[in-house]
Amino acid sequence: MDPNKSEEHGMTQEMRNTTKESSKVLTEVTRRDWFKTSVRGCAGLALGALVNVEAVRATTQTLKLSDVNEFTTSCNFCSCGCGMVATVREGKLITMEGDFDHIVNRGSLCVKGISMFATHTSPNRLTKPMYRAPGSDHWEDLSWDEAITRVAQKIQKTRDATWIATEKVADKEVTVNRTDAIGFLGGAQNTNEECYLFQKAARLFGLAYVEHQARL
Ligand code: SF4
Repeated sequence: MDPNKSEEHGMTQEMRNTTKESSKVLTEVTRRDWFKTSVRGCAGLALGALVNVEAVRATTQTLKLSDVNEFTTSCNFCSCGCGMVATVREGKLITMEGDFDHIVNRGSLCVKGISMFATHTSPNRLTKPMYRAPGSDHWEDLSWDEAITRVAQKIQKTRDATWIATEKVADKEVTVNRTDAIGFLGGAQNTNEECYLFQKAARLFGLAYVEHQARL
């Protein structure tokens, strides 16, 4: 007789093995596992029965945060530098809210920060550099290239005209290589990394007056 066949119960050895395996697996599943699985299954069935998934998808297409990109920024009103999350759809800023992950404000904003979006949409907001010539009664638009070139020329001219190479300390002439005619002011919205680079640039220019708005 084929040892793998059982006449007695009408089962093959293979079937018996499978049954044993199933029993083993079942005994290894705890009551807690069964409970969890049952609850999940029931919840899934209940939601599936209650929610029209297609309708939800269609509705969420029009929600304010669907199909958007987010980026972090900071409030520009005061030196606290509260973090914000801005959302952009098709290149257009649509919301600005407190950033819950930001260490300064943990998502909260004061009344000025909450109204930040209004500064973005304000018709009075400047979006390009402007210049008023000495004695002129009106402002002119400048391109960013023109503005940067103009600032660079002014820095160079002022620096060259006011450069202090050495200074007398007691009876000794010592090298100082600086100008006292230009100051540098950082802003609360600058990151630590930006401030590090600004500081480097300011020192390379020979500036001694380097300050930060957050200290005011
Ligand atoms: S949200 Fe208020 S406290 Fe925070 S940076 Fe803006 S103005 Fe300052």
